[in-house]
Amino acid sequence: MAQVHSRVKYQRKSNDSMKENSTQTEQFVTFWGTRGTIPITNENMLKYGGNTSCVEVISIKNNINKSIILDAGTGIIKCSENALLRGDRVFHLFMSHMHYDHIIGLTKFIPFFREDCEIHIYGQAKFGNSLKEIFQRFFSAPFFPVEFFQLPALNKIHFHELNGIKNIQIDDIFVEIQPLNHPQEALAYKIWDFNKINCVVYATDHEHGTRKDLEIEKFIKNSSLFIYDSTYSDSNYKNYIGWGHSTAAAGATLAKNSGVKYYGIFHHDPASTDEYLETKILVEAQSIFKNSFLTAEFQTINISELNTLLTDK
Ligand SMILES: [Zn+2]
Ligand SMILES: [Zn+2]
Repeated sequence: MAQVHSRVKYQRKSNDSMKENSTQTEQFVTFWGTRGTIPITNENMLKYGGNTSCVEVISIKNNINKSIILDAGTGIIKCSENALLRGDRVFHLFMSHMHYDHIIGLTKFIPFFREDCEIHIYGQAKFGNSLKEIFQRFFSAPFFPVEFFQLPALNKIHFHELNGIKNIQIDDIFVEIQPLNHPQEALAYKIWDFNKINCVVYATDHEHGTRKDLEIEKFIKNSSLFIYDSTYSDSNYKNYIGWGHSTAAAGATLAKNSGVKYYGIFHHDPASTDEYLETKILVEAQSIFKNSFLTAEFQTINISELNTLLTDK
């Protein structure tokens, strides 16, 4: 498992080298932010990080490099800086939902502030507001000094509403969609590679214990990597029933029942230190499903390598 946990430093070279070495279909996942609820700075949380939800899935085929960004927590700041350095000018941003921890990085999402970037945003219209209207409310007084209509990228921002939609295709990348059990609802996404061989499921925020779990079991079946809202340990969860989040043990059970290859423990509680994550959360998950690991900020995983590692065992 050591290879899987290796962390990459933020640098331009990392993604360039992916591109150069690519002769076949590959898929990479980078965790730019793994914390839930609120960003946090704490010397006891440096290993797994304090930036909130943002995960990038890059699919590569014949040197074509397609990036999909999942959520816009504070992790999206470094994510977008890195993508711009790589040369990306078209962005596809999928929103699980619009709670603050998943959108707060939008104020520093650099492509919004450039005229040469095209941005596609995918998510749900809610409470009578279109997806665009929700963004307009976010970029408005007195919450932010720049109004939405003042954004330099304004004419190249495109909204794609996913209400009631089960799947969507972006060029040759298929994305499947599954609603989750969360206050005001969130969406899970399954992102396939170019050849529809490997896939990554991003499923946060969700509370286990309803019939929705059966739908999720079906949705994640045989996926290569299952990234899941694992906010609580079993003992902590008892204090937060109904808050819309899940446990490491529930995630491990879903992973085990569905034949996924690896389970990424995600959306760490802002109260969980590195030590607590390693000695409690991870232990509870691995006691049920061995291929569980703690997702860490700036960690990059090669999805094809996950399968090789399993086969080698
Ligand atoms: Zn959240
Ligand atoms: Zn939420």
